[in-house]
Amino acid sequence: MKNKLIVFTGPSAVGKYTIEKELFKDKNLDIQLSISATTRKPRSNEKDGVHYNFISEKEFVKKIQDNKFIEWNEHFSNKYGTLKSEIKSISDSNKIPFIEVDVIGARKIIENFGKDNLISIFVSPPSMKELKKRIILRNTETPKQIKQRMSRFEEEMKYIGLFDHIVVNDDLKKCVNKIKKIIRGNI
Ligand code: 5GP
Repeated sequence: MKNKLIVFTGPSAVGKYTIEKELFKDKNLDIQLSISATTRKPRSNEKDGVHYNFISEKEFVKKIQDNKFIEWNEHFSNKYGTLKSEIKSISDSNKIPFIEVDVIGARKIIENFGKDNLISIFVSPPSMKELKKRIILRNTETPKQIKQRMSRFEEEMKYIGLFDHIVVNDDLKKCVNKIKKIIRGNI
């Protein structure tokens, strides 16, 4: 692997996607988003090949069997995974792969690649109450799914100690600037 990898994680609805959008506006960072494969159906604002590679359950299972994933995980009955081919093609183009995964996926990547080859960033919400508010405002989840996400959040926070950098997403601009600094200081 020529470059380091960036592993970017945090509880769902913490604002990872909004932060990413800001980070990718900065062309000096030389990072490229690794597009995950998922069996989840696209949300109305999502495009295939941009937000995810949306694939069928059958295709996903075949890729697991063929050992194509660096890691994969299941969320609420949908599978999500980081393809080895995606990371390789980003590295080959001399960019830094930026992998957004859930906390468990991030843990697997840290175990596989070792801390020296990674910049690991955990985005934390200011509070549990604020996270719940953000999930409700996003208006994409049913009350049952909101409950599931909140209990998952408590589980995910247990792994916060594994990450080299913890950034609280309190104020978007400040949070993005902190992450830019982390990236610049570690590549
Ligand atoms: P969402 O359905 O909201 O897009 O994503 C649900 C969760 O899946 C988020 O926590 C997100 O970080 C995670 N996720 C996205 N891509 C991957 C991936 O490639 N691997 C793993 N393990 N989790 C992923």
